[in-house]
Amino acid sequence: MEFDYDLFVIGGGSGGVRAARVSAAIGAKVALAEDSRLGGTCVIRGCVPKKLMVFASSYREGFNDARAYGWDVGEAEFDWPTFSGKLRSELDRLESVYRRLLESSNVDIHDQRARLKDAHTVVLADGTEKTARHILVATGGHPQRPDVPNAHLGMVSDDVFLMERLPKSILIVGGGYIACEFACILNGLGVEVTQFYRGAQILRGFDDEARGLVAEMMHEQGIDLHLGTNIVDMAPASAEHVTAPTDMGMPPEAGHAVTGKGDGGPIWVKATNGSEHVFDAVLFATGRMPNSRDLGLEDIGVEIGRRGQIIVDEYSQTGVPSIFAIGDVTNRVNLTPVAIREGMAFAETVFGGTPTPVDHELIPSAVFTQPELGTVGLTEEEAREQEEVEIYCTSFRPMRQAFAGRSDRVLMKLVVSKETRRVLGCHIVAPEAGEMIQLAGIAVKMGATKEDFDRTVAVHPTMAEELVTMKAPVRVA
Ligand code: NDP
Repeated sequence: MEFDYDLFVIGGGSGGVRAARVSAAIGAKVALAEDSRLGGTCVIRGCVPKKLMVFASSYREGFNDARAYGWDVGEAEFDWPTFSGKLRSELDRLESVYRRLLESSNVDIHDQRARLKDAHTVVLADGTEKTARHILVATGGHPQRPDVPNAHLGMVSDDVFLMERLPKSILIVGGGYIACEFACILNGLGVEVTQFYRGAQILRGFDDEARGLVAEMMHEQGIDLHLGTNIVDMAPASAEHVTAPTDMGMPPEAGHAVTGKGDGGPIWVKATNGSEHVFDAVLFATGRMPNSRDLGLEDIGVEIGRRGQIIVDEYSQTGVPSIFAIGDVTNRVNLTPVAIREGMAFAETVFGGTPTPVDHELIPSAVFTQPELGTVGLTEEEAREQEEVEIYCTSFRPMRQAFAGRSDRVLMKLVVSKETRRVLGCHIVAPEAGEMIQLAGIAVKMGATKEDFDRTVAVHPTMAEELVTMKAPVRVA
């Protein structure tokens, strides 16, 4: 049978674009459909704008520290419209880079939604049908709101980048990556941040000691973090709500509401402990769901899991042999570099003639809180379940912040197998921990032992030198 294309990719995010380009470079005739903006979550409404906001927000401490170091920086004021205007231009630029990359790879771009009609046919929103030998679904995910009355009043992460003004106060619901990152960012930009997390400690799944220190630092920076607390009800704040002081001592002021998405004036919120509060905005960072609906997948026999994820094997192939899926829509490890890896492995498997499974072991990652949390491998808790381990850990005040009079602490931790001496996990809480863990990740992925770390000479004076100078375990467990 003759097909229009060798490959049709649905979704123009990091994974889909990479798979399309690499497949085309190998010689495949490729098309890609995207109904929103090229670049997807990472570039348009995730990692990239988030990181630029991290940079913007970090200047507040920077200015304070500068004064402590003898600089006269005067009054420093942050202007959201200036920043967000630049941010939008930068995202436009990046989107056009993605388009050019696809065009120069001879990938046909269809700027519209695509659905599957059968195992080899997609139907575009304008009714055009295209056939392909292989179809790759790389449609990503979307933020989900919890089941709370009037939840539509709250923003989700996509909306944060579209705000026309910063709110004066915000409630962030959730305790994962997105909740904690935005809590630190918005706090740094001068917003009064309250965070509700339903569990006992934020950043579930990360090393206990590391998440404990991040929570402590967030608290110290002024984030009003409420653990064991969730939102049970919300509504537009009435006149009565906005004139009475909240029980957090923050008199809510009408007229400070965010404009753009999430707009609608101050919001009244009731918490699980019965307390009532008023915020200018509420942000739900309560998890993301795969974009697997309304693609026609079930009709053609592609299996969808309980959380909406497309079920694939280690080669990203679904039960329908011509259909593959990569990235967040498969809900394996929902990180951009993983989606990119999956896209490259797909191209190598299907067009490169080398079946290439994706290695999901020992993936380093970072939470861009302030300070950042970088992690690779097993947490102490996970490792202890598995075998006897030695824990090497140090927490100290870093030179730069200590000189500026700040009480910030950092943490460097290694989880080591007592039997094999291998470093099973490395956890860092520190400014730039994301940069550090990328490098420590190489050693851990290579199977480095504690003695390999010890043999490495320290780079002095740095924070990370502690990773190679910890002599005795703090505990054996
Ligand atoms: P996460 O799954 O990390 O966190 C969701 C949070 O919301 C958890 O704290 C969860 O609580 C809580 N939650 C879920 N449902 C409810 C509810 N009904 N009511 C109250 N709280 C609720 O999701 P995120 O949205 O933060 O991030 C999604 C994914 O995106 C991450 O897992 C990560 O893979 C990726 N990401 C990576 C980043 C990075 O690499 N720096 C940055 C941002 C996102 P509980 O713990 O109790 O389940």
